[in-house]
Amino acid sequence: MIALVTGGAGFIGSNLSDRLVADGHEVWCLDDLSTGAMQNIDHLTDSGSFHFRLGNVTDESLVGELVDRADVVYHLAAAVGVKLIVENPTHTIETNVRGSEVVLQAAAKKGKLVVMASTSEVYGKGVKIPYSEEDDLLLGPTTKARWGYACSKAIDEYLALAYARERELPVLIIRFFNTVGPRQTGRYGMVLPTFVRQGLAGEDITVYGSGEQRRCFGYVGEAVESVVRLVDRRDTWGQVYNVGSTHEISINELAELVCERTGGRSRIVHVPYEEAYAEGFEDLGRRVPDVSKLERAIGFRPTLSTAEIVDRVIADLGGDRP
Ligand code: UDP
Repeated sequence: MIALVTGGAGFIGSNLSDRLVADGHEVWCLDDLSTGAMQNIDHLTDSGSFHFRLGNVTDESLVGELVDRADVVYHLAAAVGVKLIVENPTHTIETNVRGSEVVLQAAAKKGKLVVMASTSEVYGKGVKIPYSEEDDLLLGPTTKARWGYACSKAIDEYLALAYARERELPVLIIRFFNTVGPRQTGRYGMVLPTFVRQGLAGEDITVYGSGEQRRCFGYVGEAVESVVRLVDRRDTWGQVYNVGSTHEISINELAELVCERTGGRSRIVHVPYEEAYAEGFEDLGRRVPDVSKLERAIGFRPTLSTAEIVDRVIADLGGDRP
């Protein structure tokens, strides 16, 4: 099979590309390197079955050419990371909505499967835990930029499902929950690579807010495994799936874990949200996925422990295990 991976030089995109190449597929990667990096895919460019094209997902003629060549499109190109989103809301909304429009239009011409990366952000600050696919979405006000990301990805989902319904386009929507692992950068606000870098450098580990907020961190390799299995089972097409871990941890506990595993030289400090983020930020207290639909479909769900994931991220960022 020939796969087009938009955002293929990014964190999840490059890990997915590794897997597709290893499985014997030919991969075309489209990335504008805005948040992705060549170093994520350098090792793949020698392989005869991986091809990189520098470009933006809103470029209709380039996307059209690449989609025509592919059997399946993995659409991962998007503006991500809470920090980036609250600092660049215009860029976020335009890239996410326009990019998906261009990809879906091109795919619809020849009925190519589009695997659309979405996010747990679409649940907003829903209070019914765990979040399951048919739950109502509870977004914050439009005056808070953070929710513009959630809303843009929700529009992407509506649009993909509209193409499925009206044009019989095969689509598969995957809501990634907090996903971590090798190659993720902390530059756009993601907590785990930030903490690990701080821990390895013996710097203060910066917990935002009270640190009582809770998340579940899933390993990227298991997220990719879920994607591959979902695509293989054709009865999943046309549906939405949560993909993530259900091991819950508070950010305070995560800070302690990272501090201990990186040698215990850091202090854990609390930073008020107003100092940590630009205006328009609002955090959410708890996020846990319901992955029963995923498990029923593919007989698999991410289970790697947070401690093991932390150790793998430490190894990736150059530290030795204590
Ligand atoms: N966070 C933190 N310190 C950091 C970066 C993030 O305490 O240096 C917090 C952030 O405020 C949030 C949690 O860690 O409560 C997860 O943040 P991330 O941006 O990784 O993902 P989110 O779940 O917010 O999409």
